[in-house]
Formats: sequence, C-alpha cells, structure tokens
Amino acid sequence: MKGYGILIDVAKCSGCYNCMLACKDEHCGETFPGYSEAQPMTGQFWINVNEKERGSYSKIKVSFTPITCMHCRNAPCIKAAENNAVYRRDDGIVIIDPEKAAGQKQIVSACPYRVIFWNEEKNTPQKCTGCAHLLDQGYQRPRCVEMCPTGALSFVDADELKSSNASSIHPEYGLGERVLYLNIPKKFIAGTVVYGETDQCAKEVTVTLKGGGTTVSAVTDGFGDFWFNDVESMTDYELEIEQDGFKKIKRQVRTYGDINVGELFLEKIA
Ligand code: SF4
Ligand code: SF4
Repeated sequence: MKGYGILIDVAKCSGCYNCMLACKDEHCGETFPGYSEAQPMTGQFWINVNEKERGSYSKIKVSFTPITCMHCRNAPCIKAAENNAVYRRDDGIVIIDPEKAAGQKQIVSACPYRVIFWNEEKNTPQKCTGCAHLLDQGYQRPRCVEMCPTGALSFVDADELKSSNASSIHPEYGLGERVLYLNIPKKFIAGTVVYGETDQCAKEVTVTLKGGGTTVSAVTDGFGDFWFNDVESMTDYELEIEQDGFKKIKRQVRTYGDINVGELFLEKIA
C-alpha cells in the first residue's frame, strides 16, 4: 500500500475550528488501546488552526492554516524514540505507541512542527493518530476531514497527494510530509490613492507594480484602494501611478511581509 495523505486548501479554510472540535469529540475521554491514550480536555490540540493577521491598518487580511501531525516519511519523532515506540504503519500513518513511549519525553521535542504533547497524568507523549482506529474499522476518512464544512481538508491516496501540486508549509525541514497545502498565501502590497488638493479618494486610477520579473496593473476601487495579491516575498518592487494632469508617483517597496504603503497623494501639475 502506498498510503494516505491529507490535502489542506488554505483558500477554503474559514477558521471555523470544526476540525479541532471533531478531534476532541473523537479522542477526549476515549482510550483506543494500541492507538492512543485519551486526549485531555485542555492543553492538547491534535489539529489546530494557526490564525495570522497580515498587513496593517487599514489593509488587513486574516489567514487560517490548519496544523496537525504531518505523518512525515522522514520523521524525527521516529528517530528520537527508543524501543520502536514511534512507528510508521503500511498506510503511512505515524503512531506513538502509548505504552512503549511511556517516560520518553524526548519524543515531544523531536518534532519541529510542535504537534506532540506530553500527557503528565499518563506519563506519555501524544499526537494525531490519523484516526487509525476508525480507518481500521472501515471508515473512509479521519473525523477532522469528515467534519470540515468547506472542503478545505481532503483525505487522499499517495498518488493524488503527489499529483496535486500541493507543498509542505516547511519544505526546508525536508521531512517528506504526507500533509500538504494548496494556496499557501503569498504576500500582498496594498494602498490608497488620494487627490492631495481635495483629500478625496482617487477611484479608477491605474497603479502599476514592477518587480519579481513581472509587471502587473490594478485599478483603484471606489475608496481609492488597490491590492496586489500573490506577490513574492523578500523581493524589490516599484509602484508607479500615472494620472493625466497629475505628477507621476513612484514608490520602492521590499516585501519583508505584507505591505500597506498607506495613502499616496496625487499632486496637480502646476
Ligand atoms: S509532524 Fe512531527 S510528530 Fe508528525 S510525523 Fe512529523 S516529526 Fe513526527
Ligand atoms: S473544519 Fe475546515 S474550514 Fe473549519 S477550521 Fe478546520 S480546516 Fe478550516
């Protein structure tokens, strides 16, 4: 068997936390011998949603990124465990054996994604099991995937995972993750064009962005706002605004993060 994987489409995630609640519903207070000890009611999130506020007032977006065990092909948690306490099943799911892993705190810190939790009461590390106990009973998908209302989570086979063009959120780790992401947001550059003399929004003004090997244009909306989404990170760009009867505006921008250039004032040519 080539195994399973999960595709996460970040563009479809609304941040509703149903996945996290479904996981809690399945695992809190329930021990599945051979698979997992019960998940405590507090302090552990075997799937969680990373909320990130991007940009600055008044050009802000929020992105939601579900994070869980990536069931890595090259898993540091397996290497850190003694006594084969962490192992990979034939279907690719990485399992922590709750009995063999007892007392092995070093397993927690081995994961760069920080998705392994220590259960003080049971003296054992814990994490997402891919709902392996359900899959082995014939269930088609883990509970988090089942309960996602937007289709942001998909349970797929290895071939679909490979052909999906999805990518790891941390390719630099080199772990061969089986949880991959679609539509990971790039950076944005946004701002507002204003007529300097009257302080009114300048609508339907063309703004041009050059850099990263491309030139693209946007037209300001009714509030004078413009947005360039999907621009490259850590890249030098030049914004240019040309409007008949007004001085040309140029701004140099480097995308250290999401950029709000603020208000750009058009000055009349004397
Ligand atoms: S994400 Fe962390 S816990 Fe999951 S398999 Fe990879 S190293 Fe292990
Ligand atoms: S259930 Fe789906 S939409 Fe809701 S937070 Fe989880 S992944 Fe996002």
